[in-house]
Amino acid sequence: MTDPIKEYVTTHAEQVPVVSDADVLVIGAGPAGLSAAVSAARNGAKVTLVERYHHLGGMASGGMVLVLDDMVNEGNEVTTTGIVSEFIDRLERQGGAVYPPSEDCLTNWEMWQKWSRWGCIDFRKQGMPQPIVHSVAFDPDAWKRVSLDLVRDADIELRTHSWFSEALVEDNLVTGVIVQTKLGRQAIRAKMVVDASGDLDVASSAGASFITGQFIVTTVFRLMDVDTARAEAFEYENPEEFKKLDRQARRVIGGAWGMWWLKTPLPGVVWCNCPHMPGYDGMSPEHMVEAEFEGRGRMMGLLEFARKNIPGFENAKMLGAAEQMGIRQTRMLQGEYVVTKDDVASRRHFADSVCRGRDYYTPYRALLPKGIDNLIVAGRHYSVESEAQKQSREIPPCMSQGEAAGVAVAKALDANCALRDVDVKAIQKQMRAQGADPGDVPSANALIEDPVDA
Ligand SMILES: Cc1cc2nc3c(=O)[nH]c(=O)nc-3n(C[C@H](O)[C@H](O)[C@H](O)COP(=O)(O)OP(=O)(O)OC[C@H]3O[C@@H](n4cnc5c(N)ncnc54)[C@H](O)[C@@H]3O)c2cc1C
Repeated sequence: MTDPIKEYVTTHAEQVPVVSDADVLVIGAGPAGLSAAVSAARNGAKVTLVERYHHLGGMASGGMVLVLDDMVNEGNEVTTTGIVSEFIDRLERQGGAVYPPSEDCLTNWEMWQKWSRWGCIDFRKQGMPQPIVHSVAFDPDAWKRVSLDLVRDADIELRTHSWFSEALVEDNLVTGVIVQTKLGRQAIRAKMVVDASGDLDVASSAGASFITGQFIVTTVFRLMDVDTARAEAFEYENPEEFKKLDRQARRVIGGAWGMWWLKTPLPGVVWCNCPHMPGYDGMSPEHMVEAEFEGRGRMMGLLEFARKNIPGFENAKMLGAAEQMGIRQTRMLQGEYVVTKDDVASRRHFADSVCRGRDYYTPYRALLPKGIDNLIVAGRHYSVESEAQKQSREIPPCMSQGEAAGVAVAKALDANCALRDVDVKAIQKQMRAQGADPGDVPSANALIEDPVDA
């Protein structure tokens, strides 16, 4: 799809106006970046937060990814807390979050029928019914509002409509960045930089090592005027007929997880986390154009099929596709430590764990590029193998990484030291003080073999 580039032009050197001078500059206001900015600001730093779009939230709002999951270890131990929990509370207060009370977090058919269509299941567990766990169905517009509230409350300088384009590097420091705006190129200087772009834009521009991976991409969408009670009644009262129709629907859309529609906090509005489209490079404009055509075509096909065939969907209408293409994996840092699939699967504990997701632990070193002293990454592009990233990239763990990164940059500023020299125990202690679980104390099912742990 992408022709190899054959010709180049040379641009001239220019003077770029400096529009902001920050202690901490965060690029990307998705789940990881927002958490990093809030955490750094609450720890006393002057923070500038840069985002290319008008809205905050990244995949969680513009990408319309509408269930928070991977928050729970065995025994219903919630491992992503801190800013994640605060965010959920704020969403709930705005009527923008639905989740099972702890007494409903059980493994039985009654709870399955009550909660599975909210997406509140442990979808990684084999066997049916899957356990009902603490997961949260949320509204994307509420996510945008809560993000803005947090930014305003933490007195963060927000610069939207600003597209990061280049890191300014002197020796082993990122001294600032250039962003592209409608007013032309602008410079932002900073003492510490957090790359939360999801695609490692800043770290790769600064010369950090990375790998490029690929996973399915998805233009998710929502349908309105769905009679969800009727659709659920049909599913449970006519299981064989339902299975047949559901198989056909999944063929029409061309790839979906176990459930292709889920309920949302808005009555009659369902979220469709599909289609699965393999083979696209999430950073290539040409590929994204192709994916846009393909995704839109498939979703309209599914709508037509559902209206004609599936009870409850007779009056369904297209509410709209996500503003952003759903990109799961592109560049990933290869930093001071690279998290492996085995680390995630075996629940390997690290003495320098600073945050958690589900049952796994993230070492501080996996947020740090080699050879750059004042840059840290947070989110889906952290230092990880491609297969391990597929298991460790959900929204709450990315937020916990952001919260830890925010603490780390504040500590580095206080100590006037390189990020890799920050006292990890001090980060862990501050995470606990913020109500977050840094993973310093391994849970009973952790694999402990780090010599420092022994
Ligand atoms: C289709 C799909 C379904 C998913 N389903 C789930 C699910 O059910 N539950 C779950 O928890 N997770 C799910 N995920 C995973 C999850 O959404 C992401 O891994 C998570 O949002 C990553 O957060 P992040 O902050 O690292 O990156 P992102 O959410 O990608 O945020 C990055 C932010 O940086 C901004 N940005 C990027 N480049 C620039 C630039 N050059 N200049 C300025 N700003 C920039 C973006 O606009 C964005 O706001 C899903 C992902 C996809 C794609």
